[in-house]
Amino acid sequence: MRPATRLVAGRRADPYGASSPPLYQTATFRQADPEALAPYDYTRSGNPTRAQLEERVADLEGARHGFAFASGMAALSAWSRELRDGDRVLAGADLYGGTVRLLERVLAPRGVRVDVVDTTRLGEVDRALRRGAAWMILETPTNPLMRESDLAAVAARCRDAGARLCVDNSLLSPWLQNPLDLGADVVVHSATKHLAGHADATAGVVVCDDDGLAERLAFTQNAEGAALAPFEAWLVLRGIQTLGVRLEHAQRTAARVAEHLAHHEAVTRVHVPGSTEASGPPPGQRRGAGSVLSFETGSEAVSLELARHCRLFGVTVSFGGTGSTLCLPCRMSHASIPAESERAPLPRDLVRLSIGLEDADDLIEDLDAAFAAAIARSLSE
Ligand SMILES: *Cc1c(COP(=O)(O)O)cnc(C)c1O
Repeated sequence: MRPATRLVAGRRADPYGASSPPLYQTATFRQADPEALAPYDYTRSGNPTRAQLEERVADLEGARHGFAFASGMAALSAWSRELRDGDRVLAGADLYGGTVRLLERVLAPRGVRVDVVDTTRLGEVDRALRRGAAWMILETPTNPLMRESDLAAVAARCRDAGARLCVDNSLLSPWLQNPLDLGADVVVHSATKHLAGHADATAGVVVCDDDGLAERLAFTQNAEGAALAPFEAWLVLRGIQTLGVRLEHAQRTAARVAEHLAHHEAVTRVHVPGSTEASGPPPGQRRGAGSVLSFETGSEAVSLELARHCRLFGVTVSFGGTGSTLCLPCRMSHASIPAESERAPLPRDLVRLSIGLEDADDLIEDLDAAFAAAIARSLSE
């Protein structure tokens, strides 16, 4: 089956022929026989609604195993149980702020060595791997600067060096990119974003092919209890059915908004996947540029006033909902990155947009009006 069909077909068989995945909103499952335990006994350990979501995301990523957690951070935290005292992890530059916090403030104090590497440069990847590493974790494109790494080349280098590769694929979703196909060992999603798609649930998923790793992830999910609740799993299952139409629409609009901004007098630079000077990924690594973009105005005051004057763009962190949103990464989504971090600081005037399902002309008019107000406001000060 082709991707669009897989989003809506291929559900689990249901004894009553339910058209929508049933929501098993139950903590326990009665056992027919106290000695022969049925497939499900307790929802923390396993729940059919959650299992259906785990199978679905694994299928979309071409993985054999999937595990759903209470949030993207819970999913990343479950992955991080693979790291032991003394292990070295190479962290891509420009990672999600919460991931940086997990690495630097939870794992590093427990003895995991965290080194930042610019994975957009293969020379740097080679140099970093030469000193040995257990894992590498990266995002491509990065958020919010949209810098891209060559996944197949990085994965091959990790493999040669005996390191494993975890890719956070939240920004593009499995609709637009499948890192396991390119050699990654683990893919993590904040399903809060595109997969749920309606800004109504927090959820995370880890997928992998390796049976041993899958067994450990299942153990962590049950032992630590951060598994996704059934209702949230149901919401994400519902969201996934429209993943393709949502993203196709939103990324078409995002391309128009980016084009408009690129010609706007108050915009000094637009960041979209493919716009950086770096060599970038080979064609075919991703099937689109997604619906998130960022830009600079050259003035922190203008960016701040722009955020204050937009009407259609909700000022929120996160991305991938039905409504367009605007965020100032330095003050919002990435404020959790410690000041002493060795990561390159983000431009203070950076504005990030997540494009939703509104009409493109309305969004462009909203930005133009907000820019006019922001410029007038900052001139009068
Ligand atoms: C949001 C996000 C996370 C964290 O996910 P939560 O669901 O908010 O816990 C991790 N990685 C990326 C790239 C994200 O955008």
